Amino acid sequence: MTEKLNVLYAAFEAVPFIKTGGLGDVAGTLPGALKKAGYDVRVILPKLQSIPQTYRDEMARVIEFQMPLGWRNSFCGIDKLEQGGITYYFIENEYYFMRENPYGYYDDGERIAFFSKAVTESLLHLPDFKCDILHCNDWHTALSPVFLREFYKGIPLYDEVKTVFTVHNIKFQGQYSDFMLGDVLGFSGIPAAEDQLRIGDGAINYMKGALLYSDVLTTVSPSYAEELKDPFYGEGLDGLFRHRGTVFSGIMNGIDTEVYNPKTDEMIEANFSLEDLSGKAQCKAALQKELGLEEDAELPLVVMIGRLTEQKGLELVKRVLPEILSAGVQMAVLGTGDRPYEEMLRHVELEHPGRFSAQICFDEELSHRMYAGADMLLMPSLFEPCGLAQMIAMAYGTLPVVRETGGLRDSVILYNKETGEGNGFSFRNYNAHEMMFTLLNGADVFKNNKADWNKLIIQAMRADFSWGKAAEQYRCIYENLHRGFKEEL
Ligand code: ADP
Repeated sequence: MTEKLNVLYAAFEAVPFIKTGGLGDVAGTLPGALKKAGYDVRVILPKLQSIPQTYRDEMARVIEFQMPLGWRNSFCGIDKLEQGGITYYFIENEYYFMRENPYGYYDDGERIAFFSKAVTESLLHLPDFKCDILHCNDWHTALSPVFLREFYKGIPLYDEVKTVFTVHNIKFQGQYSDFMLGDVLGFSGIPAAEDQLRIGDGAINYMKGALLYSDVLTTVSPSYAEELKDPFYGEGLDGLFRHRGTVFSGIMNGIDTEVYNPKTDEMIEANFSLEDLSGKAQCKAALQKELGLEEDAELPLVVMIGRLTEQKGLELVKRVLPEILSAGVQMAVLGTGDRPYEEMLRHVELEHPGRFSAQICFDEELSHRMYAGADMLLMPSLFEPCGLAQMIAMAYGTLPVVRETGGLRDSVILYNKETGEGNGFSFRNYNAHEMMFTLLNGADVFKNNKADWNKLIIQAMRADFSWGKAAEQYRCIYENLHRGFKEEL
């Protein structure tokens, strides 16, 4: 039977307030699914400047307090806002959070430490909420379980809190000079914390703290959970994932199937559904026109949507992009990221007018039009914890072409020429030509085997990426943890 547990879900971004990537999607949708499972789930976020004013206007101040952080005594305000049936708390500190961008400042280590500490401290102050489970996400909240054990132990309210930590991307860990230990974190003279945060001479690692101090660890797909135990993917922390293997598992993310729904999406040219796919052709024609691509329904249109970084396979794309374009394929990329990749893509656009479009920006609405209008989505990631773009694409009947890693491996079923089964195309090795041949194989099916192509579209749209399954798995984790706590008493 479901117990009524109270969960505080801590993240640095969540839709609809702030999103720079998949974490924002997850933190904005999973809590709703957990609420449906019967929990009181509340979300705690930083009150960042980039949160739209309309939301800021609706927030109400709950409490203000001073909080020690190393030698500092910092102001901390907590605002509250109800949105979509969920209570959101926003931690305010103008000095740390009223900046143009969410990330990318010289003192991010201090800003993040402040946020993590404020999350833990807030448990003392939130009215009408007694936390059973503190669920932290990525390095921005990695220190919360560490602070909880080191500074708040012995306070009955905290002794009953169990902690879950989810890794969304191991690449970002929060590594800093060990000067931070005393100056910012206030851990000097606490040998356990010093030892467990240290990663070598003169350096500390926030994520390492979470991996050692949290009661349960999860990541965002079963394959990534296995990969993290491997030195190739583990970014120096693979030993810890192996060490804590009994409390570590992978739970596949879902997507917001109400937002990403071609039947009701108001951002796309024409709606379509499994019952009537005709609108998809209109979406493609409109997209080709909008992006200045040759307006030809018979040319396979491939899109990429995401951060332009090495992780997303841009090295492979760079190597064979002109070859792909000259093989009768149109491509459009939407993304921002590393400057050399942005420049490379702009250059290719100049050299291949009508064939290639580089949209170097972050544009939510354009992303919907691209998901809906494309035939294929290319995602040749070097590593991919879960990946949402491939699932969103499938919801719009756009077939993914992916490397078999992490969540891409867990969500895309390779097309089987013999049986017509599958919902996309995939390749194994991080190799540019393997990627190209897989993509061109997809283009060949598109051009010469319409029967299979249409079947694949339907199979992709039928795949269930809703949050129900994941919510059920988190429910099991929370309840086992809570039950364990009761047994300890
Ligand atoms: P990651 O979290 O590694 O960045 P994911 O595939 O998990 O990648 O999630 C990325 C999310 O951000 C998707 O919802 C994708 O549509 C969106 N996104 C990424 N780049 C852009 C962009 N330039 N414009 C609009 N949406 C974007």
